[in-house]
Amino acid sequence: MDHRLPEWAPRVPQALIYELYANDALGMPDEELLDDVGWRLRARCLSFIQAVEAANGLVRCPACEQVIRHRVRPDETLRCERCGWELAWAVYFKTFQGKQLSGAQPILQVFQVFVDRFPRAKTAEEKMLQIDQLLHAFHINMLTNRATRAAAVNLITGRYLEVVNFLDRLSYSPGSTPGLLESRRAWRAELNRTADEWNDERLRRSED
Ligand SMILES: [Zn+2]
Repeated sequence: MDHRLPEWAPRVPQALIYELYANDALGMPDEELLDDVGWRLRARCLSFIQAVEAANGLVRCPACEQVIRHRVRPDETLRCERCGWELAWAVYFKTFQGKQLSGAQPILQVFQVFVDRFPRAKTAEEKMLQIDQLLHAFHINMLTNRATRAAAVNLITGRYLEVVNFLDRLSYSPGSTPGLLESRRAWRAELNRTADEWNDERLRRSED
């Protein structure tokens, strides 16, 4: 009997992202690195989407990809009718619990757009912009329609404040891909707003 566990793509190491922005700021985009980072992020987005779907009752069989519906009950056993794979839901759940693989609908759409569009990006500029938009996305509270958390924590290694500080330290210059500075500025303004809302000064950054 097949009881294999699902595999989840890891978050992308900070060092790769740092290098990507440093090259871009120098006006020397590294095409190989852009592809490496882009495909890693895409795999991570796919894992995120699949983990959220699993938590909502739709598991993809790790052996044959068949979609399995379940009721999200702690004592339930997942069974694939196509290939016979089975696993306790509690065991399956533990494989992604605490791994920054949960979120609500708005961010799933952002991640899905990246999954669909990145493979079609042709130029270095397009790839850089898509990656940049993804890394500066926010989770949105569906009731208030306001940003809650920076979604980069789901995509890049580190704890929340570390990831926020890391994005603040990325290199920019007048030679950066057009649009990057604007997206950073908008992201910062949104984070400052969450700092106000949560009364958390650690999320704020004074202009330098
Ligand atoms: Zn199966």
